[in-house]
Amino acid sequence: MRIILLGPPGAGKGTQAKDLAKELSLSHISTGDLLRQNVEEKTELGKAAVEFMHQGALVPDGLVNQMLKRRLTQADTQKGFILDGYPRNIRQAEALDDLLKAQQNKQVDFVFYLDASEPVIIQRLSGRLVCSKCGLNFHLKNMPPKKDMLCDRCGSNLYQRPDDQEKTIKKRLEVYRQEVSGLLQYYQQGNKLYSILADGDARVVLKKIMQLIEQHDDSSKV
Ligand code: AMP
Repeated sequence: MRIILLGPPGAGKGTQAKDLAKELSLSHISTGDLLRQNVEEKTELGKAAVEFMHQGALVPDGLVNQMLKRRLTQADTQKGFILDGYPRNIRQAEALDDLLKAQQNKQVDFVFYLDASEPVIIQRLSGRLVCSKCGLNFHLKNMPPKKDMLCDRCGSNLYQRPDDQEKTIKKRLEVYRQEVSGLLQYYQQGNKLYSILADGDARVVLKKIMQLIEQHDDSSKV
C-alpha cells in the first residue's frame, strides 16, 4: 500500500507516518529527514540543499526527485510506503506517478490531508524538540522530556531544528500555501484524497486514518 501524508508543517505528518508505518508494517519515507541526513553527512546533495532548507524554501525538484527515485529502488519500499513531506507541488506529484508507473504500473492508494490551523502549527513547531538519534519528537511545554534535553527513549541529545525559528516557520507556511491547493486538486481528481482535522490528539487522528483505510482499501490493487 502506498500512502501520502499532506499538510502544513506542524500538522503531525511525521508523527502519523511513524505510527502508521508501525501499524501497517510499511516503510516511512520522510524527504525532510533524508535531506537533513545528507546535510549532516555533507554529501553533494546536502551541500546543494542546505541553504534552501535554512531559508524555509523548497529544495529544487530535480534534486529531491532524484533522491526519492533512489530511495524507491530499495527493497523495503516494494511492498509499500508512507511518504511524509513529498510531494510538495504538482511537478513532484507527477514525477512520483511516473516513477510508480515505471515500477510495474503501481500507483498511490491513499492521500491523507492533515488539516491543522495556524495558531496550533506555530505553537507546535516553535516548541518542537527532536531526538538527534531516534527522531522522536518532544515539545518544550506540551511534552517535555523527563531529563533536560535528553530523549526519553534512547537518551540521546534533543535539538531544535534550525528551520523551526518563527521567521522560517512563516516562510515555510507561505511556501506551503502557494502549492497546496494545486496538490489537493490533483489528488481529488484522482479520487484518492481524504481530509482529516489534525488540531487535536495524535491518537484520534491515527484512528481516523486507520478507519478510512479499512473502509476504502481495495486489496486487489497492485
Ligand atoms: P520537512 O522535514 O518536511 O519539514 O522539510 C524540511 C525542509 O526540507 C523543507 O522546508 C524543504 O526545504 C526541504 N524539503 C523536504 N521535502 C521536500 C520536498 N519534497 N521538496 C522540496 N524540498 C523539500
